[in-house]
Amino acid sequence: MTGKDNKGTAVVTGASSGIGAVYADRLAGQGYDLVLVARRADRLEELAEKLRYAYHRKVSVISADLSDDDDVRRVEQAISADESVTLLVNNAGLGGQQVVATADVDAAERMIKVNVVALTRLTRAVLPGLLARNRGAIVNIASVLAFDSSFGGIYSGTKAYVVNFTEALHREVAGTGVKVQVVLPGATRTDFWELAGSDIDQLPKEIIMNADDLVDAALVGLARGEAVTAPALVDVAKLDTFLGARQAFYGSLHADKPAPRYAA
Ligand code: NAP
Repeated sequence: MTGKDNKGTAVVTGASSGIGAVYADRLAGQGYDLVLVARRADRLEELAEKLRYAYHRKVSVISADLSDDDDVRRVEQAISADESVTLLVNNAGLGGQQVVATADVDAAERMIKVNVVALTRLTRAVLPGLLARNRGAIVNIASVLAFDSSFGGIYSGTKAYVVNFTEALHREVAGTGVKVQVVLPGATRTDFWELAGSDIDQLPKEIIMNADDLVDAALVGLARGEAVTAPALVDVAKLDTFLGARQAFYGSLHADKPAPRYAA
């Protein structure tokens, strides 16, 4: 048996394109068997066939709409029952710069269901098994827009949830053999932009990363046990400064009386 033979199974949501498809490729290359999840079964099957051929791994496909409650439960059941699962990459997601007053509220709800609810439920589905086996990892794909609401609060709000949820989960599993990582992609060249009604080429090209580089960097961060991986961040001290300032700010938000400026 080689080192590659006992990696277990990685579940990758949103594997039919973009960042998720690169994760699937890289993880198969590292020796994981795969469960690929997304709506477009044809694209998943095509990728699965390619990866089986290239890497000789077991690759199965679950076609599911993660904004649909029944579909999410079907995926939960499949992955919680699979004792070979060692890695969950919660990558499926969709964006859009919606102004609340005119937002398509059903589309906004679908975004929240995929970006937040499904990610939470799938995490909950695999975590007990990972903890019981004291092994494995959960990777949640957030966004730099978790820290900037200027392009609209709905998408940004979903990704802020992913960051807080994952940070707390990282603390929850501390001291176990389970790793938890949140990844903060900046602008990444995928179908995401067109689907969200935006043109990525309106951005300066020096801030656009390709999905291959993004995933390769995120996997290095995972291997190093990072809780927060920001692939584009050159000066990592800024992350520590930000997290420290946030903690200090939080510490100053409690008192037994309102601040003097609110005196009537
Ligand atoms: P993408 O190419 O559009 O891929 C999105 C994936 O999510 C697709 O595989 C899609 O599959 C899946 N998905 C969307 N809605 C779904 C649903 N209802 N049910 C199941 N699967 C669904 O975009 P991407 O850039 O790779 O996005 C991956 C993640 O990165 C997302 O969470 C996104 O928020 C995050 N991100 C992207 C960027 C960027 O600039 N691209 C920046 C920051 C964060 P089907 O359509 O086949 O269902």
